[in-house]
Amino acid sequence: MIDVRLTNSVLKTRDIYVQELRKMGIHTIRELLLFFPRDYKDEAEFTGVNNLQENEVHVLRGEIKSIFTNRSKTGKSITRAVVGDGTGEVSAVWFNQPHLKLMFFKGNEIILTGKVKYEQGRRVFMSPKYEKGGKTLIHTGRIVPVYPENEFISSKWLRDKIFSLLKYSKYFEEYLPQSLIQDEGIMAINDAIYHIHFAQDLEHLNKAKERLAFDEILLLQVLALRRKFIFRNSSNNEFKVSNNTLYEFLEALPFKLTKAQIRVIDEISFDLSSEHPMMRLVQGDVGSGKTATAAAAIYLLKKAGFQSALMAPTEILARQHYKSLFNLFSHFDINIALLTGSTAKSDKDIVLRQVASGTCDLIVGTHSLIEDDVVFNKLGLIVIDEQHRFGVKQRELLKKSGKPHVLNLSATPIPRTMALTIYGDQDLSIIDELPPGRQEIITRIVPENKRNDAYFWISENISKGRQMFIICPLVEDSDVIEAKAATAEFERLKKDVFPMHRIALLHGRMKSSEKDEIMKSFAAGSIDILVSTSVVEVGIDVPNANIILIEGAERFGLAQLHQFRGRVGRGEHQSYCFLFSDTNSAAGLERLKNMVKYSSGFDLAEMDLKLRGPGEVYGLRQSGIPDLKMASFNDSKLMYRARSAAELLINKDPELEEFPLLSSKIAQLEVINREYYS
Ligand code: ADP
Ligand code: MG
Repeated sequence: MIDVRLTNSVLKTRDIYVQELRKMGIHTIRELLLFFPRDYKDEAEFTGVNNLQENEVHVLRGEIKSIFTNRSKTGKSITRAVVGDGTGEVSAVWFNQPHLKLMFFKGNEIILTGKVKYEQGRRVFMSPKYEKGGKTLIHTGRIVPVYPENEFISSKWLRDKIFSLLKYSKYFEEYLPQSLIQDEGIMAINDAIYHIHFAQDLEHLNKAKERLAFDEILLLQVLALRRKFIFRNSSNNEFKVSNNTLYEFLEALPFKLTKAQIRVIDEISFDLSSEHPMMRLVQGDVGSGKTATAAAAIYLLKKAGFQSALMAPTEILARQHYKSLFNLFSHFDINIALLTGSTAKSDKDIVLRQVASGTCDLIVGTHSLIEDDVVFNKLGLIVIDEQHRFGVKQRELLKKSGKPHVLNLSATPIPRTMALTIYGDQDLSIIDELPPGRQEIITRIVPENKRNDAYFWISENISKGRQMFIICPLVEDSDVIEAKAATAEFERLKKDVFPMHRIALLHGRMKSSEKDEIMKSFAAGSIDILVSTSVVEVGIDVPNANIILIEGAERFGLAQLHQFRGRVGRGEHQSYCFLFSDTNSAAGLERLKNMVKYSSGFDLAEMDLKLRGPGEVYGLRQSGIPDLKMASFNDSKLMYRARSAAELLINKDPELEEFPLLSSKIAQLEVINREYYS
């Protein structure tokens, strides 16, 4: 019944409205009822005429005592009504709505909502909203739903139409197990859909919101946990590591591992020796030492006779990983190769042969590792740095390599509750501690009138032999404009501010060979100042760079600013982060002050999530974080609740055989999610 298509007779409207709804993706009664209000106005409380206050919004229920329409000298029509409610009388005035006189007659009940003004000493409702009494109220005198509008379809129109079809909400099938509904004390789905539109009272509205938010997270969790379950059950650990002693590896490390690193390595080696392949995400701030934890895994795999691959998002990062792993493994018989887009053909052939024959134990590279000509001998582990940058490609690598262990590394600080939801199909490890002796990066918000002083100070620092980064403002959705702006800033700095220093520009519109060239010279110390847009990955280790200056800092998320800040502080020199901002908003500045106060990426991410929401913090598209409609990632209580409910469900009935409706709902979600996750 609810899948009946919307036509002009179902909606009692004209074709153009039906077409307009189609454009909004609304074709059926079901889809219309799933088009939720964006907001509500609580107009449930009526005020008597004797209590009307000037300049306040009131809702009045009364009887029309008189109504007539006049024309003003300028030709406008003016409708005036006198409305009484037993405590007194008040008038109402509307302009250019002559039809009112045909709708309302003396003795009719009317409900008015609007501001009360004084006119010649008398109280008057000026152009109030109105609705006829004697029936269920939908536009006034209740909790009024407010729908997203466009130039054709108004909130009021939607309210009318949705109300007229609301009786069909009872046909929405309950897809959650009855026991879960009872245990959680949540509203049935059909009631929730009814009350999310036309709530009987605030309590019902809140219950409806709770149910729909709970569902949103629960479904994501069920999806993730089921994926995890299937992954585990369809695959045995073919690359089992039975002897997981790391003694020699640890002995040879040039540093003592932090407690957090040891914990994570324990978790990893446990996975490697268990029944199913590992699927684990290691999260840790820049510099927290994730590479060493991956190296431990690679070491164990090699001892068991298997190969590993490490994939990084850019060539520079791949090269950096290659170098540091080469050093970490210098005491061991581990044969490492590097393969990127710019590896020469002759070298590439050698690497490919070694990988195919199994003499290469570890191959480090970019997405070039996915190419068809890379054939592994016994690939047992894939390490992926910043996995969200790969998306589909990551799956391809997995597909062609049997069922190896997967270890994802991420420096994107995501609060734990949020990570549980969006990475629910992986096990999580967190490195929440930096190696000892790390210097604090001194962070300052620089007011505009101190700009020249800052430039002077920076110039002296460069004269002492240091290097620096300058990050130009983020231009939303346009790397073309962003590149232009950065180019202008670069020209200005070169000509007017730092003519005595060697300065270079880097932006996303440059060829990747060009970018690589510049990064290489910066790393080699032949450039002093690197001016860059935000789109450019400056994920390179340049220990001699000790200042990062960020323009338009208020436009970035705190997590992102923190990642920029991680570019410095990698060497022996005291490092600085200067934030310039063109905001005058107190809240904006207050938000930036957190950068001065906190040095942990997780704290900052949590803060920003509260202040701005996930879309702003991470950029939804690039991070693959689902766009929640009803729930909020800030609601950690809800997330834990949904997580445990999903666990209960999947543990009992992993294939959801008992709950075919839920199962098909998950299947639909899987299709939608494939864009994000696969
Ligand atoms: P990230 O987590 O950002 O990938 P890395 O693994 O690159 O961090 O480590 C950053 C630097 O810290 C490297 O130079 C590494 O050798 C060093 N490092 C890692 N762990 C420790 C430790 N426990 N003590 C001292 N230095 C460490
Ligand atoms: Mg790293």
